Amino acid sequence: MMAEDNKEPTANESLKSALGHAKCVLFDMDGVLIDSMPNHAIAWVQSMTSFGITMTANDVYLTEGARGVDTIRKMVKEQQGRDIDEAEAQKMYDDKTHRFGLLPKPRIMPYAIELQEKLHCMGIKIGIVTGSGQRPLINRLLKEFPRVTEDKLVTAYDVKNGKPLPDPYLAGMKKCNVCPSETIVIENAPLGVMAGVAAGAFTIAVNTGPLPDSALIEAGADIIFKNLKEVYEAI
Ligand code: CA
Repeated sequence: MMAEDNKEPTANESLKSALGHAKCVLFDMDGVLIDSMPNHAIAWVQSMTSFGITMTANDVYLTEGARGVDTIRKMVKEQQGRDIDEAEAQKMYDDKTHRFGLLPKPRIMPYAIELQEKLHCMGIKIGIVTGSGQRPLINRLLKEFPRVTEDKLVTAYDVKNGKPLPDPYLAGMKKCNVCPSETIVIENAPLGVMAGVAAGAFTIAVNTGPLPDSALIEAGADIIFKNLKEVYEAI
Protein backbone atom coordinates (compact mmCIF):
# COMPACT_ATOMS: atom_id res chain seq x y z
CA MET A 1 0.00 0.00 0.00
CA MET A 2 1.27 3.47 -0.77
CA ALA A 3 2.31 5.63 2.14
CA GLU A 4 -0.31 8.31 1.49
CA ASP A 5 -3.11 5.73 1.81
CA ASN A 6 -2.02 5.11 5.39
CA LYS A 7 -1.46 8.63 6.49
CA GLU A 8 -3.05 9.80 9.71
CA PRO A 9 -5.61 12.59 9.41
CA THR A 10 -4.17 15.97 10.32
CA ALA A 11 -5.43 17.72 13.43
CA ASN A 12 -7.49 20.06 11.24
CA GLU A 13 -9.08 17.14 9.36
CA SER A 14 -9.90 15.51 12.70
CA LEU A 15 -11.50 18.76 13.88
CA LYS A 16 -13.65 18.96 10.74
CA SER A 17 -14.71 15.35 11.24
CA ALA A 18 -15.54 15.96 14.93
CA LEU A 19 -17.56 19.04 13.95
CA GLY A 20 -19.49 16.93 11.46
CA HIS A 21 -20.74 14.71 14.31
CA ALA A 22 -20.95 17.36 17.03
CA LYS A 23 -24.23 18.04 18.77
CA CYS A 24 -22.67 19.69 21.80
CA VAL A 25 -19.60 21.65 22.88
CA LEU A 26 -18.68 21.50 26.56
CA PHE A 27 -16.63 24.48 27.70
CA ASP A 28 -14.40 24.65 30.72
CA MET A 29 -14.74 28.02 32.50
CA ASP A 30 -11.49 29.33 34.07
CA GLY A 31 -8.83 30.08 31.47
CA VAL A 32 -11.25 29.30 28.63
CA LEU A 33 -14.33 31.54 28.99
CA ILE A 34 -13.07 33.84 31.73
CA ASP A 35 -9.49 35.10 31.99
CA SER A 36 -9.42 34.27 35.67
CA MET A 37 -6.29 32.15 36.01
CA PRO A 38 -3.88 34.99 36.93
CA ASN A 39 -6.23 35.88 39.83
CA HIS A 40 -6.60 32.23 40.83
CA ALA A 41 -2.82 31.90 40.95
CA ILE A 42 -2.52 34.94 43.27
CA ALA A 43 -5.34 33.75 45.56
CA TRP A 44 -4.09 30.16 45.77
CA VAL A 45 -0.51 31.15 46.60
CA GLN A 46 -1.57 33.74 49.23
CA SER A 47 -4.10 31.43 50.84
CA MET A 48 -1.94 28.32 50.98
CA THR A 49 0.99 30.36 52.34
CA SER A 50 -1.30 31.45 55.20
CA PHE A 51 -1.86 27.75 56.01
CA GLY A 52 1.87 26.95 55.85
CA ILE A 53 1.54 25.15 52.50
CA THR A 54 4.03 25.81 49.70
CA MET A 55 2.30 26.33 46.35
CA THR A 56 3.83 28.20 43.42
CA ALA A 57 1.96 29.87 40.57
CA ASN A 58 3.19 27.06 38.32
CA ASP A 59 1.65 24.50 40.71
CA VAL A 60 -1.64 26.37 40.34
CA TYR A 61 -1.56 25.93 36.55
CA LEU A 62 -0.49 22.28 36.82
CA THR A 63 -3.35 21.42 39.22
CA GLU A 64 -5.91 23.62 37.44
CA GLY A 65 -9.19 21.89 36.75
CA ALA A 66 -9.06 19.57 39.76
CA ARG A 67 -11.57 20.19 42.54
CA GLY A 68 -9.98 22.69 44.93
CA VAL A 69 -10.64 20.49 47.98
CA ASP A 70 -8.87 17.54 46.30
CA THR A 71 -5.81 19.68 45.53
CA ILE A 72 -5.71 20.93 49.15
CA ARG A 73 -6.03 17.44 50.68
CA LYS A 74 -3.19 16.20 48.45
CA MET A 75 -0.86 19.09 49.35
CA VAL A 76 -1.57 18.77 53.09
CA LYS A 77 -0.85 15.04 52.91
CA GLU A 78 2.37 15.53 50.92
CA GLN A 79 3.74 18.46 52.89
CA GLN A 80 2.38 17.93 56.41
CA GLY A 81 1.74 14.18 56.42
CA ARG A 82 -1.84 14.74 57.59
CA ASP A 83 -5.04 13.29 56.21
CA ILE A 84 -7.70 15.98 56.40
CA ASP A 85 -11.38 15.48 55.71
CA GLU A 86 -13.36 17.24 53.02
CA ALA A 87 -14.87 19.69 55.54
CA GLU A 88 -11.45 20.95 56.68
CA ALA A 89 -10.26 21.21 53.07
CA GLN A 90 -13.45 23.10 52.23
CA LYS A 91 -12.71 25.68 54.97
CA MET A 92 -9.27 26.26 53.46
CA TYR A 93 -10.77 26.45 49.98
CA ASP A 94 -13.28 29.01 51.29
CA ASP A 95 -10.32 31.18 52.34
CA LYS A 96 -8.89 30.92 48.82
CA THR A 97 -12.29 31.78 47.36
CA HIS A 98 -12.58 34.81 49.65
CA ARG A 99 -9.17 36.11 48.54
CA PHE A 100 -10.09 35.53 44.90
CA GLY A 101 -13.23 37.59 45.39
CA LEU A 102 -11.22 40.58 46.61
CA LEU A 103 -9.19 40.77 43.39
CA PRO A 104 -10.25 42.88 40.37
CA LYS A 105 -12.97 41.33 38.20
CA PRO A 106 -11.37 39.19 35.46
CA ARG A 107 -12.32 39.85 31.83
CA ILE A 108 -14.35 37.59 29.62
CA MET A 109 -12.01 35.91 27.13
CA PRO A 110 -12.05 37.57 23.71
CA TYR A 111 -14.25 35.62 21.25
CA ALA A 112 -15.86 33.49 24.01
CA ILE A 113 -19.37 34.81 23.44
CA GLU A 114 -18.89 35.06 19.65
CA LEU A 115 -17.74 31.42 19.47
CA GLN A 116 -20.75 30.22 21.47
CA GLU A 117 -23.04 32.24 19.22
CA LYS A 118 -21.48 30.70 16.11
CA LEU A 119 -21.89 27.18 17.52
CA HIS A 120 -25.48 27.93 18.51
CA CYS A 121 -26.23 29.04 14.94
CA MET A 122 -24.78 25.71 13.74
CA GLY A 123 -27.38 23.92 15.93
CA ILE A 124 -24.80 22.85 18.51
CA LYS A 125 -25.72 22.83 22.23
CA ILE A 126 -23.52 24.69 24.69
CA GLY A 127 -22.64 23.18 28.08
CA ILE A 128 -20.28 24.22 30.88
CA VAL A 129 -18.13 21.80 32.89
CA THR A 130 -16.05 23.47 35.59
CA GLY A 131 -14.09 22.14 38.55
CA SER A 132 -14.79 25.48 40.17
CA GLY A 133 -17.19 25.98 43.03
CA GLN A 134 -16.95 29.77 42.85
CA ARG A 135 -20.55 30.83 42.55
CA PRO A 136 -19.88 34.51 41.65
CA LEU A 137 -18.00 33.45 38.50
CA ILE A 138 -20.60 30.82 37.63
CA ASN A 139 -23.35 33.41 38.06
CA ARG A 140 -21.44 35.72 35.74
CA LEU A 141 -21.51 33.05 33.04
CA LEU A 142 -25.27 32.71 33.46
CA LYS A 143 -25.73 36.48 33.30
CA GLU A 144 -23.26 37.52 30.60
CA PHE A 145 -23.23 34.52 28.21
CA PRO A 146 -26.57 34.40 26.38
CA ARG A 147 -26.20 30.67 25.50
CA VAL A 148 -25.24 29.42 28.98
CA THR A 149 -28.10 27.94 30.98
CA GLU A 150 -28.24 26.38 34.46
CA ASP A 151 -29.61 23.06 33.12
CA LYS A 152 -26.44 22.50 31.06
CA LEU A 153 -23.95 23.45 33.78
CA VAL A 154 -21.74 21.08 35.82
CA THR A 155 -19.76 22.51 38.76
CA ALA A 156 -17.49 21.10 41.49
CA TYR A 157 -20.57 20.34 43.57
CA ASP A 158 -22.26 18.15 40.93
CA VAL A 159 -19.63 15.41 40.89
CA LYS A 160 -17.71 13.52 43.55
CA ASN A 161 -14.73 12.71 41.31
CA GLY A 162 -13.25 15.77 39.62
CA LYS A 163 -10.96 16.22 36.63
CA PRO A 164 -8.72 14.48 35.47
CA LEU A 165 -11.32 11.71 35.86
CA PRO A 166 -14.00 11.68 33.14
CA ASP A 167 -16.92 12.10 35.56
CA PRO A 168 -17.46 15.88 35.13
CA TYR A 169 -17.56 15.66 31.33
CA LEU A 170 -19.74 12.53 31.43
CA ALA A 171 -22.11 14.47 33.70
CA GLY A 172 -22.07 17.33 31.17
CA MET A 173 -22.93 14.95 28.31
CA LYS A 174 -25.80 13.54 30.37
CA LYS A 175 -27.18 17.02 31.03
CA CYS A 176 -26.94 17.87 27.33
CA ASN A 177 -28.34 14.46 26.31
CA VAL A 178 -25.45 13.60 23.98
CA CYS A 179 -22.92 10.76 23.71
CA PRO A 180 -19.10 11.15 23.66
CA SER A 181 -18.80 10.90 19.85
CA GLU A 182 -21.23 13.84 19.56
CA THR A 183 -19.26 15.99 22.01
CA ILE A 184 -16.35 18.42 21.69
CA VAL A 185 -14.60 19.63 24.83
CA ILE A 186 -12.70 22.94 25.01
CA GLU A 187 -10.12 23.03 27.81
CA ASN A 188 -7.00 24.97 28.75
CA ALA A 189 -5.45 22.81 31.48
CA PRO A 190 -3.67 19.43 31.33
CA LEU A 191 -5.97 17.80 33.92
CA GLY A 192 -9.01 19.15 32.09
CA VAL A 193 -7.77 17.84 28.75
CA MET A 194 -7.21 14.44 30.37
CA ALA A 195 -10.80 14.48 31.65
CA GLY A 196 -12.21 15.34 28.21
CA VAL A 197 -10.16 12.63 26.52
CA ALA A 198 -11.06 10.06 29.21
CA ALA A 199 -14.73 10.88 28.66
CA GLY A 200 -14.30 10.02 24.97
CA ALA A 201 -14.83 13.52 23.55
CA PHE A 202 -12.80 15.22 20.82
CA THR A 203 -10.79 17.60 22.99
CA ILE A 204 -9.60 21.03 21.87
CA ALA A 205 -6.94 22.71 24.01
CA VAL A 206 -6.53 26.47 24.07
CA ASN A 207 -3.18 27.29 25.63
CA THR A 208 -4.04 30.57 27.33
CA GLY A 209 -1.59 30.14 30.22
CA PRO A 210 2.16 29.85 30.84
CA LEU A 211 2.57 26.06 30.43
CA PRO A 212 4.27 24.74 27.27
CA ASP A 213 2.09 23.22 24.51
CA SER A 214 3.77 19.88 25.26
CA ALA A 215 1.90 19.72 28.61
CA LEU A 216 -1.41 19.76 26.71
CA ILE A 217 -0.24 17.41 23.96
CA GLU A 218 0.97 14.88 26.56
CA ALA A 219 -2.42 15.15 28.28
CA GLY A 220 -3.95 13.93 25.01
CA ALA A 221 -5.36 17.05 23.34
CA ASP A 222 -6.60 16.33 19.79
CA ILE A 223 -5.73 19.83 18.58
CA ILE A 224 -4.18 22.92 20.17
CA PHE A 225 -4.95 26.58 19.55
CA LYS A 226 -3.50 29.70 21.13
CA ASN A 227 -6.88 31.19 21.97
CA LEU A 228 -10.61 31.16 21.20
CA LYS A 229 -10.18 33.53 18.25
CA GLU A 230 -8.20 30.78 16.50
CA VAL A 231 -10.93 28.24 17.37
CA TYR A 232 -13.59 30.62 16.05
CA GLU A 233 -11.71 31.00 12.78
CA ALA A 234 -11.10 27.25 12.41
CA ILE A 235 -14.78 26.34 12.84
CA1 CA B 1 -9.51 25.75 33.11
